[in-house]
Amino acid sequence: MSRRAWLWWLVLGVPVALCYPWLPGGSLVAGIGFEGVGALTFLVMLVAIRRRRPPQSRMWLFLAAGTGASVLGDLIYDVLTNVMHVDAYPSVADVFYLLSYPLTVAGLAMLVRGRTRGRDRVGLIDAAIVSTALALPAWTFVVRPVSGLDHAGLGDQLVSLAYPIFDVLLIVMTARLVTTPGSRRLPAAHLMLIIAQGTRLVSDVSFSATSITGADFPWLDSGWILTYLLTTAALLHPSAARVDEPAAPREVGALSTPRLTLLAAASLLAPVVLAIQGLIDRTRIDWLAVAVGSTILFLLVVARMKLLLNRVHRQARLLEALASLDGLTGVPNRRSWDEALTRTLARARRSGEPVVAGLIDLDFFKRFNDAYGHQAGDLLLKEAAATWRAELREVDVLARYGGEEFGVIICGLPAEEALAIVSRLRPVTPRGQTFSAGLAEWDGHESADELVRRADEALYQAKAAGRDRVLLGKDVTLAG
Ligand code: GH3
Ligand code: MG
Ligand code: MG
Repeated sequence: MSRRAWLWWLVLGVPVALCYPWLPGGSLVAGIGFEGVGALTFLVMLVAIRRRRPPQSRMWLFLAAGTGASVLGDLIYDVLTNVMHVDAYPSVADVFYLLSYPLTVAGLAMLVRGRTRGRDRVGLIDAAIVSTALALPAWTFVVRPVSGLDHAGLGDQLVSLAYPIFDVLLIVMTARLVTTPGSRRLPAAHLMLIIAQGTRLVSDVSFSATSITGADFPWLDSGWILTYLLTTAALLHPSAARVDEPAAPREVGALSTPRLTLLAAASLLAPVVLAIQGLIDRTRIDWLAVAVGSTILFLLVVARMKLLLNRVHRQARLLEALASLDGLTGVPNRRSWDEALTRTLARARRSGEPVVAGLIDLDFFKRFNDAYGHQAGDLLLKEAAATWRAELREVDVLARYGGEEFGVIICGLPAEEALAIVSRLRPVTPRGQTFSAGLAEWDGHESADELVRRADEALYQAKAAGRDRVLLGKDVTLAG
């Protein structure tokens, strides 16, 4: 089978579907046009599944079986009405028609499960919103009027009711197909299955309308033939090999404009149904159905909002972490350092505890880069930050101030002890690398900028004095 088989299949089949209303009803030509195409569809599907062995073969088998049951129903109906000339509604044909629904719905459910890998709460809620919204008009305008038909017998009524109920089931599944995550890049095969079910639903609803109003819709059969053709074309399309590809995780839970529009339109169906009922006959407003439908819709929309909020919060936390940490070393970045120092000074102003700020600068780091390469330099920065962090107390702040310079904040300890703590970092610095550090003790009044400026001065002095040492501002030297 060629890669273009699906195209030829549609090019040859669609004209048959479109011309069908003009074929003489009950004739052999019409029979070939409908049941013939249907049977061919079923056979082509079976052959394609055997030959191509697409992923999710079971799903395609269910869809083929759904088609087969429907075609068998058509055949029985045709023989009963046009050959045996008996009233074929309801009849054994309906058993097969009705059987085709659960088979198709099961097939589509397998498709959705494959694409979402069973972790798509958002898609489930969206589908529930669309289905509830569509179920309401189906109930008030089709199911109830049909159940109210008094000229029909009980069997007749049951069969007539089964169709719209099964259609609602099909709506649920089709909605689920549409709301599968990543719908913007759906494989063509997936899209064809959606259109196929859409066409079927249009024909089904029109059929229910004929049984209520008695009007004749000549396009019903065309719709059903198109459903057969499109389901098969989906299987023949090369993208059938990809229908079970899971959607990209980042798209899960997103709310795109088309989807928002879909959900808004669905949610508005309840008031629209109410308005139409009011316009038609105010005394027969189905207040209970509209109230129940609106309540379910409202709760679903709130649940959807909750999931969206969770997603926003998750992203906010992630962004916050990303914005406050240094990308290379994973310690707080300059911005967090500034904030931490301001916060610490404000707290110390109230508590009176001592605060020491320090700047640590690797010695001759340019040389290190030149000798071992920039990547080795990056690695050293990472390792140094990690070992220093492990050596410091948990309450001490270590941040990347910029380049090969780091900042520390040590509070609650006298300056000499802070000096001892920073000096402990010298022997653990990786690869024998040395650093110089300048510390300054907060005087109780100065600003954060002023304090850092004094630490920087001390660092400059440490460098000038020969590097590889820690100096406390105002000439107090400990190590060297
Ligand atoms: P000094 O002892 O005077 O501090 O000498 P130095 O070479 O460390 O100082 P200088 O300020 O002249 O050079 C700092 C170097 O640090 C320059 C740059 O190549 C290196 N550096 C800064 N940021 C990074 C970084 O993110 N990765 C790497 N690999 N090197 C960096
Ligand atoms: Mg420097
Ligand atoms: Mg340096």
